[in-house]
Amino acid sequence: MPVVDFESLKSVTDIPREAERLLAKPEKEIHFSLNILVYPLGLVEADAYVVYHNTARGPAKGGLRIWPSVTLEHTRDLAELMTWKTALVGIPFGGGKSGIALDPRALPAETKTAIIKEYVHMIAAELHAGAYVPAPDLGSTPSDMAVIYGETHVLESVTGKPPRVGGLPGRREATGYGVAHVAELTSMALFGRPVSGQRVAVQGFGNVGEWTCRFLAARGARIVAVSDLTGGVHRAAGLDVERLAQHARDAGGVAGGEGDAISNAEVLELDVDLLIPAAVEHVITAENAARLRAQVVIEAANGPTMPEGEAVLLRRGIPLLPDILANSGGVIASYVEWRQAKSGAMTRAEETYQTVAEQMEAAFARVQEFAAQRAVPYRIAAQAVAVAELIATMRDRGWIPA
Ligand code: NAD
Repeated sequence: MPVVDFESLKSVTDIPREAERLLAKPEKEIHFSLNILVYPLGLVEADAYVVYHNTARGPAKGGLRIWPSVTLEHTRDLAELMTWKTALVGIPFGGGKSGIALDPRALPAETKTAIIKEYVHMIAAELHAGAYVPAPDLGSTPSDMAVIYGETHVLESVTGKPPRVGGLPGRREATGYGVAHVAELTSMALFGRPVSGQRVAVQGFGNVGEWTCRFLAARGARIVAVSDLTGGVHRAAGLDVERLAQHARDAGGVAGGEGDAISNAEVLELDVDLLIPAAVEHVITAENAARLRAQVVIEAANGPTMPEGEAVLLRRGIPLLPDILANSGGVIASYVEWRQAKSGAMTRAEETYQTVAEQMEAAFARVQEFAAQRAVPYRIAAQAVAVAELIATMRDRGWIPA
């Protein structure tokens, strides 16, 4: 499903025909086979893809997904999402993505490493040129990024590396840091009050959900419910995030942690100030949107809201802060890591957070202004700000008429 509906977007902003044509399709797609003979498994074969959606603003940036459901179509959509996200938050990257259609959970660690080395071998020209810059995504880890670096020997060819291998202090928690920061900005803009004291429900307690909870709790918010694949916990007075994180580590999930048991579906429908879906896509549908009681939804996951669900929320006056802004902290931190690798400088976590905050504040201000002036939802406003950036860049580069 393409990320942007050009017809809706064109009703609020001018998009030259040539720009629409360039943004409506990917610039380049590579489909290749990864074949490797390992023992005792025998021949492991997988389809693999690299998509460059649009590189007007810089190298194609986007994670490496290793998951059985990976397809060219989905990789294409995810690459497009990166084009809009990087343009919106003003970093010098374009949109890209790569994928390997394999189940990493079924592979011995050495086999996965061998597969990743083969992936580097197959797209060596792309990686050495710095034209596509991978990062961790579903099914790939910082250690996998270290393996990619080990093959290219070029520090800036990949981001999301462990800090000891040229990675960035603060990268791991940057997406959650950004979600918490944008929640603060949204709360001030919509309700005129900080997140301190507000009730928050979070679906998902992985990298993004856990760090979002930590940073929001540090700002004084009350995390009243959290859920993950194992179930959920609810405590009206607020959960102790560190204790919950320890429980989740020990028990393999949040279920059974301090508080009352609550289902994943119930977490979405709680009476809270902020609802933060931070797990998977398509969890807010037309059906449950009618029952949501949050004051605002902050999309920490990619694509958690179905278009029909969003329409119901907007009709009910529940605003929604879109994924391309809310979860952009990770790619902003990736930019800092790439810059660090190119310069040889060392970066402190506080500098990473500061850059995330600055880029998100600038983007939020532009989105807020556009939404207020044109009386459109935040998602349309964010896309309009991004498309204006992309159009201006493509003009600068002579890709479309001046
Ligand atoms: P993760 O794998 O670390 O965690 C996912 C969490 O969601 C886990 O707690 C899991 O139990 C839970 N979950 C999975 N399926 C669920 C379901 N059906 N119902 C409820 N909970 C479920 O992943 P992550 O890195 O935290 O990413 C979460 C989302 O944020 C994804 O949409 C991802 O694309 C997006 N995102 C992540 C980053 C990043 O830097 N990690 C950056 C931008 C966007």
